[in-house]
Amino acid sequence: MNIEQDQPLAPLTSLRLGGPARYLARCTSNGDLREALVWAAERGVSVHVLGGGSNTLFDDAGFDGLVLHVGLQGVDILRADEAALVTAGAGEDWDGLVAHCVADDLSGIECLSGIPGLVGATPIQNVGAYGQQVADSIVEVRALERSTLEEVTFSNVDCDFAYRTSRFKGADRDRYIITRVTYRLSRSRPEIRYPELTRRLQADGVDLQALAPGRVASGAVRDAVIAVRRSKSMVLDEGDANTRSAGSFFLNPTLSEVQLESLQERWADQGGEATDIPTFANVQGYKVAAAWLVERSGFARGTRRGSAGISQNHALALVNHGDSAADLLGLAAEIVTTVETTFGVTLEREPVYVPR
Ligand SMILES: Cc1cc2nc3c(=O)[nH]c(=O)nc-3n(C[C@H](O)[C@H](O)[C@H](O)COP(=O)(O)OP(=O)(O)OC[C@H]3O[C@@H](n4cnc5c(N)ncnc54)[C@H](O)[C@@H]3O)c2cc1C
Repeated sequence: MNIEQDQPLAPLTSLRLGGPARYLARCTSNGDLREALVWAAERGVSVHVLGGGSNTLFDDAGFDGLVLHVGLQGVDILRADEAALVTAGAGEDWDGLVAHCVADDLSGIECLSGIPGLVGATPIQNVGAYGQQVADSIVEVRALERSTLEEVTFSNVDCDFAYRTSRFKGADRDRYIITRVTYRLSRSRPEIRYPELTRRLQADGVDLQALAPGRVASGAVRDAVIAVRRSKSMVLDEGDANTRSAGSFFLNPTLSEVQLESLQERWADQGGEATDIPTFANVQGYKVAAAWLVERSGFARGTRRGSAGISQNHALALVNHGDSAADLLGLAAEIVTTVETTFGVTLEREPVYVPR
C-alpha cells in the first residue's frame, strides 16, 4: 500500500478547507487498514480516519500525521420474504446505496436520501433526517479495533445509538475503524413521520397509499426529500455556493424542564411567547431548534465574517466562501457565545474539527 506525502486535504472535504496531510493512505481492504495502522504505530505517527469528509473540518495548518481514507467497497443484498439484509462496505457512497436500495424495491432509508458521505460514517453520528435515522435499520456494524487490529462485530444495541451520536462518537471515539455495515430494509411502503415531508408530498400531489410499495413509493419519497434538501442547499452541488458546508454546524440542544423554563423567560423578556420556540418533547427532555436560537440571537441567513458565512438557505449551515478554517471556527465561536449570552443555551458543534 502506498503512503502519499504532503497531500492537500481541502479537496477531500465538502467544506473545501484545511492544509495538507503529512501522510495519506487510501485503504480499500482490511489488509490495507492493518498495514497503515502498523506503519503509523511503528513511527509514532497519529492517525485520523476519513470517509467522505462531509462532516470534517481540518485545520488551516493541515494534519501532522496519517490520514487514513476508508474506501472498502461492495454491496451484498440477502433477501428473505418481505425483508432484506443489505451489507455495504464502509467506503461505499451513502446516497448511492440509498438509490440502489430504492431501485431494488427496498424501503427504510429513503428519507436519508441526499446525505453526503460514505457508509462507514453513518453509524458514527447515527445519521438522520426527515424522520429516519440509521439506528432504525442498522443490524450490525463490523469494525477493526485500532490498537489490536482485531475484527469486532457490534449488534444494534451494542452501538449505543442516540440523537446524532453512538459509542463510536462517545466512549469509544477513535477506537475502531468501521469496515462494513448491515441494514435491515423491507418491501413495505415508507412511513412518513416528518410534517414538512408530508406537506411536500401533498403539494406535489403524491398519495403514497395509492402507490405500489417498493421502488414507486420509496422513489416518490426519495424525490421529495431531495427536492426539500435542495431548496435548503443540503445536497452537494458545485453550482450552489451555499453547499460548501458540513451540513448543520450545530446540534439541536436537548434541555431539561428547568432549562426550558429559563429559555422561555429570557424570550419573554424580549417580548416573545413560549409557543414561538420550536420545541419537541422526547424521552431525554426538550429538543429546541438550534436554527431558531441562532436566528433569534441576531445571525441572519447570509451573515458574513471574512471568508465564512451562514448559508442563505439554512441558518445552521456555516459556509466556506474562501480558504480559511480559522474564519469558520471564529464565526462558529461567535455564534456559540452570542446564543449563550442571549438565551443561556450552549450549542454543541456537529462536525469533527481535526487540529494539526
Ligand atoms: C450538505 C450536507 C448535508 C448534510 N445533511 C446531513 C443530514 O441530513 N443528517 C446527518 O446526520 N448528517 C448530515 N450531514 C453530515 C454528514 O454528511 C454525515 O455526518 C455523514 O455521515 C458523514 O460522512 P463522511 O463519510 O463524509 O464522514 P467524514 O466527514 O469523513 O467523517 C466524520 C467522522 O466519522 C469518522 N469516520 C468516518 N468514516 C469512518 C470509519 N469508516 N470508521 C471510523 N470512523 C469513521 C471520522 O473520523 C470523523 O470523526 C450533511 C453534510 C453536508 C455537507
